[in-house]
Amino acid sequence: MPPSDGGRTGSRATLGLGGNVGDPRRAMEEALKTLDADPSIEVEAVSRLYRTPPWGPVAQDWFLNCCAVVRTTIEPLQLLEKCKDIEQALKRQRIVRWGPRTIDIDILTFDNLSLENERLTIPHPRMHDRGFVLIPLSEIAGDVQVRGRTVSDWSQDCDKEGIEVASESGDWWRSS
Ligand code: ADP
Ligand code: MG
Repeated sequence: MPPSDGGRTGSRATLGLGGNVGDPRRAMEEALKTLDADPSIEVEAVSRLYRTPPWGPVAQDWFLNCCAVVRTTIEPLQLLEKCKDIEQALKRQRIVRWGPRTIDIDILTFDNLSLENERLTIPHPRMHDRGFVLIPLSEIAGDVQVRGRTVSDWSQDCDKEGIEVASESGDWWRSS
């Protein structure tokens, strides 16, 4: 009998990507292609792109955001390191915390794992009240459980103000 996931191995993780400096669509496209090219990571699904209002204490440009589902054979900390390497390679400018950035890649969930240490908290501690995470994530991983509720349920209640669809499909990152 094949396993119920169709024979795929490894863990199922969800990622949140966003940026608001330079060409964030291009940066996210590069990031997803780089992840997918890694032998230990397969990008299974990507949400549509969303244009979302800036949040937090720093006045700045609108963001582009998306989420992805990946299969991976590596551990959460190794996945974090790969995401940080990609951020660095895309010349992320960390001038102000929560300020403008070329690209930010967050690990949202990793299987059903709960984990908290100085380097990594899973599920991402702020994902359940961020519309710019929950709306794209619910397109591709509405079934995922966070703090006792599904992503779909969380997304029903979140603040959606100003969030706009910015691509027709989830294929936007494969083009060009
Ligand atoms: P934020 O993602 O909250 O906007 P940063 O990207 O600047 O802020 O996050 C800084 C640090 O957060 C990273 O260096 C990383 O070690 C830590 N971190 C903790 N949990 C996570 C997670 N789930 N995904 C990504 N980074 C995380
Ligand atoms: Mg981050």
